[in-house]
Amino acid sequence: MSLFKKSDSNNIYLDYAATTPVSPRVFDAMKPYFSEDFANPSSLHLSGQKARAALDKARHDVADILEASWREVFFVPSATHSINLAIRGLVSSADNPHIITTNIEHSAVLNTCRSLEKEGVEVTHIPVDEKGLVDPEDIKKALKDNTVLVSVMYVNNEIGTTQPIKEIAGILKGHSAYFHTDAVQAANYLDINVQELGVDMMTLSGHKIYGPKGSAILYKKEEVELQPLITGGEQERKLSAGTENMPAFIGFTEALKETEELKNAESARIKKLRDAFIKKVLKEAPGVGLNGSQDKRVPNNINIYFEDLASEVLIPLFDAEGVLVSGGSACTSRTPEPSHVIAALGREEYAKNSIRVTLGRSTTQKDIEKAADVFIKIAKNNN
Ligand code: PLP
Repeated sequence: MSLFKKSDSNNIYLDYAATTPVSPRVFDAMKPYFSEDFANPSSLHLSGQKARAALDKARHDVADILEASWREVFFVPSATHSINLAIRGLVSSADNPHIITTNIEHSAVLNTCRSLEKEGVEVTHIPVDEKGLVDPEDIKKALKDNTVLVSVMYVNNEIGTTQPIKEIAGILKGHSAYFHTDAVQAANYLDINVQELGVDMMTLSGHKIYGPKGSAILYKKEEVELQPLITGGEQERKLSAGTENMPAFIGFTEALKETEELKNAESARIKKLRDAFIKKVLKEAPGVGLNGSQDKRVPNNINIYFEDLASEVLIPLFDAEGVLVSGGSACTSRTPEPSHVIAALGREEYAKNSIRVTLGRSTTQKDIEKAADVFIKIAKNNN
């Protein structure tokens, strides 16, 4: 299934965790909202009311997928915005707040917590084991009377490991702390039913699920009270002021619906390709290994370390072969810092030497076979 015209020839895009193309179905759903149905949903005329009705319907559709109430779904400009709203919005009105998070979070969580720490908020960073997994017991031990928030990512963006969200939610039952999960990398493959997961807040991003950039949602239980990050109009019940980005929010909703429909079939298809790649590369490429658990991991993620080669050197080598991969998180890949995620696995020596390969809807068996051959060739040439 090809989602986008391969304008740059035969390149094999294997960076779907960084971003996905907008799917044709999503693009079609968005189109009318640019220049036909462009009215402001806050306008009282009929065109405005039509836009309001479309936005309300989108909110209900998202809520149905999450098994939430429409009142609990907030459209926001990015997952980063949602995460800031969940964390800062909660702690800003708390007295002497304590937050628990993990040491492998995306920079949206990590840097928000760091910044709050500078403002005097107490933050506990739970370590992961060598496979990249959090032990729920560690969260239990870290809980204090003044813990107001536990934020644990559902799926890690670099190594794809899945955290035991339900178990953590179980541990938090009976404690007053709220539970937020960054589910940005989970939505394509895992269950995002908030009742099943037992979370109080959850963040999703449109551009990781074949929707547009600049679209995201925060799910928030009604009882969770947040302070807005910015002041302005009354949009999103005052939690995200500013005229609603209708094409983006309609696109997000269509993307989430399509993702739900494709989830099971795509997970099975991609997992097969992923496992074949890992098996071949680990067997035939010298001086490489897999980062993170192989089974507790989303189906599309592969993260390989090279014993003696830095990702800065490797990425252009892959690029020259037409294989587009990344060195870890897209948000930090321009800073040649070692990966905090690989370091957290106890593999500091490979924190600058790891390559993330992420598969998606357009990835074919042929693509994956070619990519594996390129991995093996590069490893052999440089060993
Ligand atoms: N959280 C995770 C796990 C991510 O992978 C990303 C994007 O890379 C984000 C948050 C931030 O998403 P956005 O680009 O929508 O702000």
